[in-house]
Amino acid sequence: MLDYLQQQLREREAQALTRVRRQAGTPTAPRQTIDGRPMLAFCSNDYLGLAQHPKVVAALQEGARRYGAGSGASHLISGHSVAHQQLEDRLADLNAPCIPGARALSFSTGYMANLAAVTALGGEGTDVFSERLNHACLIDGARLARGRKQVFASVDELADQLRTSTAPRKLIATDAVFSMDGHLAPLAELLALAERHDALLLVDDAHGFGVLGPQGRGSLAHLGLRSERLVLMGTLGKAAGVAGAFVAAHPVVVEWLIQTARSYIFTTAAPPALAHALLASLDLIAGEEGERRRAQLELLQAQLVDGLQPWVQARGWQLPRSDTPIQPLVVGDNQDALDLAARLDAAGIRVPAIRPPTVAPGTARLRITLCADHTADDVQALVAALTACP
Ligand SMILES: *Cc1c(COP(=O)(O)O)cnc(C)c1O
Repeated sequence: MLDYLQQQLREREAQALTRVRRQAGTPTAPRQTIDGRPMLAFCSNDYLGLAQHPKVVAALQEGARRYGAGSGASHLISGHSVAHQQLEDRLADLNAPCIPGARALSFSTGYMANLAAVTALGGEGTDVFSERLNHACLIDGARLARGRKQVFASVDELADQLRTSTAPRKLIATDAVFSMDGHLAPLAELLALAERHDALLLVDDAHGFGVLGPQGRGSLAHLGLRSERLVLMGTLGKAAGVAGAFVAAHPVVVEWLIQTARSYIFTTAAPPALAHALLASLDLIAGEEGERRRAQLELLQAQLVDGLQPWVQARGWQLPRSDTPIQPLVVGDNQDALDLAARLDAAGIRVPAIRPPTVAPGTARLRITLCADHTADDVQALVAALTACP
């Protein structure tokens, strides 16, 4: 076994696929100490810069004083705290405009929330339709689910699959914002198909929540969608700056998850202090400070695209249109992506190179992510360093 694993690791190395972890010695922020070096970072999903916001940090401390460090048990035993309930009530209110009568359920991570939703709703007798570019945890949920799985690459393909499905129940699952591309799924079309074929539509809004829509309520609000068929998964460790996730849905769906979802039932509840900190974070997201930070992100996005476009086109690379602070620079070749990242690294700028299997073969890229705490000078520094590459 050890020889086999060593051999497999060598093969990955030969294909420039080895991943390394760097150690951050400071809070996540545009200026961060990574492996002991001060770096200008364009790599976190803390889009609004709330992970080290003084109000969120103070609420985390206050939450720890009030509730202690850990929850002590799973939600169904004794780990469900007042803070968890307050968080769920707030998230239910936030999502009620898009999901009438919504109830919300909090999870420790988005990975576990998606596993819960897909396995609990995709049981025996349910066909699960999964978008090709879905995040790994939706894919893993579909693998674990007892229902039949089908993968779709377009709205038309999904329509065909739904038409020929004879399953009594149907679940469609999609990312709202594709995490390696930054573009939005055609959610209105997918919802129309869900309505026509009596299906539920599970939407993973990991990268839209906090960033898109009125008051940062996310992709559904951004597109003005409203339906009882929507099941929304949002993460709270990205734009919300803390940790965890939620599922918001019709109350019957949420009750079903509480009663049957194994990745909800058989795990210790997240520390209540995190839920307490999230209440402060949600206030910021919905308030004036959130508006200001979202406006700054839009300015930075436009500046980055304008600055890079001529250079990118001259090399035959691509800067696909993105609706979000995720700005991919698609170069194709694994080694080209690594070389660019290494050059930036030498210039004190951290941008991750993303390679297969995270993205499709031949579409290796730099995944640039912007944060509201970046300045115009920061973006200019990135553009200058990239366009100086031979
Ligand atoms: C990050 C991410 C998740 C997982 O959320 P975690 O809270 O980090 O476990 C799920 N879906 C998408 C699209 C993501 O980008």
